[in-house]
Amino acid sequence: MKREKRLTKRERKALAPARPAAAAGGHQHQHIHCVACGKHLDAVQFGAQGTATWITCQHKSTFASCVECVDMSRRLLAEHDRTGKPVQSAPAWH
Ligand SMILES: [Zn+2]
Ligand SMILES: [Zn+2]
Ligand SMILES: [Zn+2]
Repeated sequence: MKREKRLTKRERKALAPARPAAAAGGHQHQHIHCVACGKHLDAVQFGAQGTATWITCQHKSTFASCVECVDMSRRLLAEHDRTGKPVQSAPAWH
């Protein structure tokens, strides 16, 4: 007796329900943007050889920046620390 079991697409889906997004590491920085130019940065870009980095203001707030933008970003943070105004970050873009 040959038993052949073929699942329909719907049955397969029922067996393996989609995992909630939170299961993907629970990373909090889903949307990171360079403070100086507004460019979207991915978490993988923040490695040792990465093209993005974190900079910190005097209040220990952390801001993301492209490596090329880091001088500009530091200037923005320095201005914010000097004036107490919110960081004048660039509008985000993709
Ligand atoms: Zn983004
Ligand atoms: Zn940038
Ligand atoms: Zn600050």
